[in-house]
Amino acid sequence: MSLLRVHLINPSDVSFGLAVITPRWLFVLAAATPERFGTPVLADETLDRFDPSGVAAGDVVGIGIHTGNALRGYEIGQAVHARGAFVIFGGIHATLFPEEARTLGAADAVVSGDGDLVWPAALADCEAGAPKALYEGGRVEGTRFIPARWDLVPPGRYMWASVQTVRGCPKHCSFCSVWRTDGQEPRNRLPTSVTGEIVELRRRGFRFIILADDNFYPVSLQDLAQAARLPDPTRLRELQALRAARFELMADLAKLPADTVLFTQITMEAAEDPEFIDAMHAARIRGALVGVESVTPEGLKAVYKNFNLSGDALADRLRTFRDRGVHVLGSFIFGLPTDRAGTFEATAAVAERAGITFAQFVMLTPFPGTIDFDKWEKSFNGAPPLVEGIPITRHWLIPAARRPKFYMPHPAMTSDEVRMRTQGVWDRFYALPQIWKRSRCVSSLKARLAFVLVSKLYRQMYANTGLSTDSARRSTSVRWTRWLGRPCHRLFAGRPMPDLQMPS
Ligand code: SF4
Repeated sequence: MSLLRVHLINPSDVSFGLAVITPRWLFVLAAATPERFGTPVLADETLDRFDPSGVAAGDVVGIGIHTGNALRGYEIGQAVHARGAFVIFGGIHATLFPEEARTLGAADAVVSGDGDLVWPAALADCEAGAPKALYEGGRVEGTRFIPARWDLVPPGRYMWASVQTVRGCPKHCSFCSVWRTDGQEPRNRLPTSVTGEIVELRRRGFRFIILADDNFYPVSLQDLAQAARLPDPTRLRELQALRAARFELMADLAKLPADTVLFTQITMEAAEDPEFIDAMHAARIRGALVGVESVTPEGLKAVYKNFNLSGDALADRLRTFRDRGVHVLGSFIFGLPTDRAGTFEATAAVAERAGITFAQFVMLTPFPGTIDFDKWEKSFNGAPPLVEGIPITRHWLIPAARRPKFYMPHPAMTSDEVRMRTQGVWDRFYALPQIWKRSRCVSSLKARLAFVLVSKLYRQMYANTGLSTDSARRSTSVRWTRWLGRPCHRLFAGRPMPDLQMPS
């Protein structure tokens, strides 16, 4: 047994006391930690603030960061480094900026790419007192993804658990880094491995599970038609095998207890394929986040998402999901160069017409790893403006309370105008009469009231805390979220099924 202890930390500036979704990476890396290091100590700051005093000299602290929580991650890195611990950073942001994690986060080592298989080597080197500067995890094959350790999840604190079925996305949207970091070749996980985790979660009382996939529909009918035109049939066979594996997984999921509720992320193209949507419904997939992004053809072209539909055809396509029993959380982006004042109203109207159940309206932000970011960074010719002495192209390093909320310059509107109009669309979509109207998607009065509560919670968590610029409003919002979170949490809790068996 090794003497060093392993700590895994998910940083966050805001702690709600309860969280919506389990940070999957924490439980996967815990599973990847060899037994001789004992059970890792997990800290998720979306629940509670991390206290470094539990870390001793010689311990290993793994910190997973994305751009939004990188600065808080660096604070933690420095605090635990000062206590003599080995600091290892991983996650998408550390993969993109390993040097930053070293200089600002006091990282002894950085794990790039997927940590599933390389984590034990990093721990062994710390044990020997000589960690390497970089561990390249690369892109692990889907058949080798590690199932998470759900025995470590604290009871009663998360509404949804998260399980992954596929990594990678064949598209290339300009605002998204997934296809560049996870790759464009989908990596399907083995169905038995996915169902095994879900069964374990059901035994523990999780009924609501997010399939944390990059794109649940990785092969479109158009992809198949294009491949069929190639003289060499190899690509067509590969795509057919990928598609068959999706159906095989869904056939397994269909054998789960009937009250299981799964939610995934998918491109709108899936609605072209009724067989696929019906299989999703049978597989207990009751909802999906669909990246609508823009309701105009110009807007879609601007983000390299021409495969989406616009206008009335878009509303029809989104309705197909609902008509076949899969609710849609539509995701829209504001602040595209083609947006004008009228775009906000038009988007709100399409969102209502399309019969989507939930919606989120985000502002175009240049995140590292994306095409948009590269273009934006180049536009300053090496001399970006400074905010608090920090180049705007490193916006995540500006202290959270003073960080500007919108960075992409717009040709026709000020940042404030885009922000105010975006807030207006949130207000309209989540006005009580609108929510009540949408709550008809469930039958009983109790379920409709629950729907209202969940809608309000969603709005508090993602609109107010994300868009508000002053800290007083943000704190009020966090208090509201905490208050709403408690009753909502009870709605999501399921009855534990300790005797549930794997479907045959
Ligand atoms: S936004 Fe969605 S569809 Fe586009 S590249 Fe990213 S994951 Fe794929």
